[in-house]
Amino acid sequence: METNSYLIKVKDLCTYFYTDEGTVRAVDGVELKIRSGETLGVVGESGCGKSVTALSIMQLIPSPPGKIIRGSILYQNNKGESLDIVQLDPRGKKMRSIRGGEIAMIFQEPMTSLNPIYTIGDQIIEAIMTHRNMTRQEAREHAIRMLDRVGIPGPKQRINEYPHQLSGGMRQRAMIAMALSCHPNLLIADEPTTALDVTVQAQVLELMKELQQEFGMAIMMITHNLGVIAETADNVSVMYLGKIMEYASAHDLFHNPLHPYLKALLRSIPSLAGKGQKLEVIKGMVPDPLSFPQGCRFAPRCRYARKICKQEDPPAVEIEKGHQVKCWLYQ
Ligand code: SF4
Repeated sequence: METNSYLIKVKDLCTYFYTDEGTVRAVDGVELKIRSGETLGVVGESGCGKSVTALSIMQLIPSPPGKIIRGSILYQNNKGESLDIVQLDPRGKKMRSIRGGEIAMIFQEPMTSLNPIYTIGDQIIEAIMTHRNMTRQEAREHAIRMLDRVGIPGPKQRINEYPHQLSGGMRQRAMIAMALSCHPNLLIADEPTTALDVTVQAQVLELMKELQQEFGMAIMMITHNLGVIAETADNVSVMYLGKIMEYASAHDLFHNPLHPYLKALLRSIPSLAGKGQKLEVIKGMVPDPLSFPQGCRFAPRCRYARKICKQEDPPAVEIEKGHQVKCWLYQ
């Protein structure tokens, strides 16, 4: 099994949820690849399947009702083995050593992912002791160093505090300290700055960049914010209704966007230069997840939709090296 120099390579991933009302095809044929040290931005509006893709990589899909029904997630582990995460037992030893140790995740709202009844120190120490061969005292010292590294003042005192005693920005820093305390190969950051105010957002993004360089890890940056993508990503995958619509370097994505959905997204961002101009809206509504349209999923909202768009799903094609788009206009 080969990952071809990629740390992680997701191929034809399909994760569905079987509900009483019907089947939700939340992730439907997703392809992603991330190299060591790279930042891949995954951008799309709420409900497009970004977080379900991340949870699939972590083997954290609640089952039932969710299930990975097809595809592979090839991962190069610390021992140099190529593993297909989809084939691993979610509760097995191998997956538990990957999850939190080699692949870590931070979430939008740390208050919901930190346990309110334990101090942040207890939680970070537990993560370190689970994945690294350290005594409690060594783990405590390492946790203090990590809190210091992420810019939490007075880490020796703060380690004994509970999540509710920290501000939103400090909680997110504590989450980052916990995620990075085991030196993961890949950090999945799911909307890490959405719940923070803008000045703290910039600080947290800057911190993540610094730590990425220090630890040499890859980052999968999930966001609906194209500004965050422009700030952080090397390459970007644009998602819409469970599918990747465009993949390119961040430079090409902003300078030569191809997919009608991405073009419309970019036209809907306010800019100082466009003062007084009306912002564009993407017409129509996101379709019901229980009944996606036939053919291209963006067709009901696309101003360029033609007959074939409503009949057949376009394949992804490479327009130039490293720039792929899934749209009949480019076939
Ligand atoms: Fe629009 Fe057709 Fe392209 Fe879909 S395939 S984005 S409907 S032009």
